[in-house]
Amino acid sequence: MSTISTVEATATAAHTNGAEPGLPGANTVSTRPGPSTLSVHGGEARDKAFHSITTPIVQASTYTFRDTAALVEYMEERMFWDEPQRDEYGRYGNPTVRAVEARLAALENGDDALLTPSGMSAITGTLLVFLSAGSHLVCTIDCYRRTRDFIQTILTRYGVEATIVPAADLQAIEDAIQPNTRLIFSESPTNPFMRCLDLEGLADIGRRHGVRTAIDSTFATPLNLRPLDYGIDLVIHSVTKYLAGHNDVMAGAVIGNGGLTTALRQMHGILGSVIDPQTAYLVGRGLKTLGLRIERQNSNGLAVAHYLEAHPRVRRVWYPGLTSHPDHAIAAAQLRGFGGVVSFEIEGDGEQTGRFIDGLQIPYIGPSLGGVESLVEQVQIVSYYDADPEKLDALGVSPSLVRLACGVEDAADIIADLEQALGRVGTEGS
Ligand SMILES: *Cc1c(COP(=O)(O)O)cnc(C)c1O
Repeated sequence: MSTISTVEATATAAHTNGAEPGLPGANTVSTRPGPSTLSVHGGEARDKAFHSITTPIVQASTYTFRDTAALVEYMEERMFWDEPQRDEYGRYGNPTVRAVEARLAALENGDDALLTPSGMSAITGTLLVFLSAGSHLVCTIDCYRRTRDFIQTILTRYGVEATIVPAADLQAIEDAIQPNTRLIFSESPTNPFMRCLDLEGLADIGRRHGVRTAIDSTFATPLNLRPLDYGIDLVIHSVTKYLAGHNDVMAGAVIGNGGLTTALRQMHGILGSVIDPQTAYLVGRGLKTLGLRIERQNSNGLAVAHYLEAHPRVRRVWYPGLTSHPDHAIAAAQLRGFGGVVSFEIEGDGEQTGRFIDGLQIPYIGPSLGGVESLVEQVQIVSYYDADPEKLDALGVSPSLVRLACGVEDAADIIADLEQALGRVGTEGS
C-alpha cells in the first residue's frame, strides 16, 4: 500500500522558522512533503475501495470473519502486532477514522494518531492514561477552562495531585516537578493570551526528570508548529477548531511516537469515547484545505493585530506575532505562523466592550475558533460568567478582554468592520 508519509523525514529537531520542511532552504535534507501536500494526501492509501478518490464512509459497527480460521488469524495478529490490518468492532477502530488518523500523524510528524469525539475526550483520556492515584501533574494556568476543571475537580477525587504554574515559565515548571510527577501538560500558544512555551526547553526538562510532556497545540495547528519535532511526547488537538475548520463538527486528537498512542487507544476502547465515521469523514474533508485556510488565518490574524495595536481605543493586544507580546522571541523562533486568534482589551468597561462587540457585523458572537467564519467573544462572559472577581484577577481576565478568532474572510473587510465598531464605542455614552 503506497502512502505519502513522513517516515523519511529527519528524526531531529526543529524546522527552520519561515521555511517549509522538505523545500529548498529548510533545515532538512529529506523529501518530506510540505504541509499543504500532507493536508491533502498524508498517510492516505492511493488505492481506495471502488477506485474512489475519497476515502469512503464505512458505516459499520462490526466487522465479520469468513470462518473460524480467519478469526483466529486476526486474534493472533492482534496479540502479537500493535497494528492489525483490519478492525473487529466499531469501538476499537473504523477504516474511515483510521485514514484520517494517518493523515493527522503525517501532518504532526508522528508515528500514530488517535481521533476522539472531542478535544476534551482527547485531553481527559491522555490524563487518565498517564496518571494514577499518588501521581502528580504539572499544568500551566493559562489554559482551556474545562481542562483545569477536570484536573482540579475530577482527578483530585482519584488521588492525582496537580501543581498549576504560570504560563510559558519553564523555570516554574521545572521547580514544580516532584519525585511522583508523571506528566507536564500545557497549551502553546495558550488561550486566551497566546503565551508560547519554548518547546525544546520543555522537552529537555521532561527528559532530564523522566517526565512525559504533552502539548495542547490547538491554537497552532501542525501548519504553524510541530511539537513532536522538538521532542515533546504527545500533541493534543481540539480538532473542532482549525483542523476540521468549518464550525460544524466536534472532534479531538492525540498524536505521538513510539507506541504511546497504543495505551491511549486501549483506554478509549474501554472508556467508549469513539468518534463516528461520518464525523471523521468531515474532519478528513476539512483537513484537505488546512494549508490554505491556515495561510489565510495567519495573515488575517497578523493584519488585525497590527491594526488593533495602532488604534487609540485599544488598550492592549496579545498576539505572538507582535513584538509587544511577552513571548514574541520564542514564537518567532518556533512558530511558522502566528494563527488567527487575537485577544485585546478595549478602552472602557465591560458594557462598552459589549457595545463594541454588538456593533461588529462580520464575526458571529460565540465561543470557539479556527473555523472559516470569524467569531468574537467577551472572554469573561463566555468562559468565566460564574467566576468571582479574585479568580478573574488571578487569570488576568478583565471585562474588556475580547477574543477575536479570524475566519478566512478578507482582512480588509474584518478591519473595516472593527473600525466602524470601535467608532461606536467612542461616540455613545462613554
Ligand atoms: C476548544 C478547546 C479545547 C476543548 O476541545 P473540544 O473539542 O471543545 O472538546 C481544548 N483545548 C483548547 C485549547 C481549545 O481551544
